[in-house]
Amino acid sequence: MATQPMGRALAPPRIYTYRDMFAARDSAAFARVHRVSLAKRVMRGVLPPTTAIYTITAPVLAFVNLNRWLAPCPCGLEPAVVDRAPAGGSPPLARCFGCGAVLTAVVMPDDADAIEAELVRRPWQHRNWQPGETLARLRADNIAHGV
Ligand SMILES: [Zn+2]
Repeated sequence: MATQPMGRALAPPRIYTYRDMFAARDSAAFARVHRVSLAKRVMRGVLPPTTAIYTITAPVLAFVNLNRWLAPCPCGLEPAVVDRAPAGGSPPLARCFGCGAVLTAVVMPDDADAIEAELVRRPWQHRNWQPGETLARLRADNIAHGV
């Protein structure tokens, strides 16, 4: 099977958050999507009937994976989806669709916007960033790969 190169024209112009991933217009809509998704998964038997939305207050570091801002959920089932700017000026949070957790202490990098600016130069499947990876490293990788 031939592979098709992913050109910049097909690449999204930003790193996705819940707004892009769920077409949710704001934090309240994101919370509804979370609640409804969990309820549907319980009804289908994917999640146990005891599944409920709960809060985790321990800090977690956001990361970028395949063009999405995510945060590690302690459940280990799947990464939580980040809301960088929740309503009311609350700190960034993330919602886990695997266990129902709302992680209320998501730590975004201080230079998140600069990180995004470097990542969006790449094809979407190469838009990955881990905490501790410096802007200089991102720029060097971009130059090494001609982007
Ligand atoms: Zn979880």
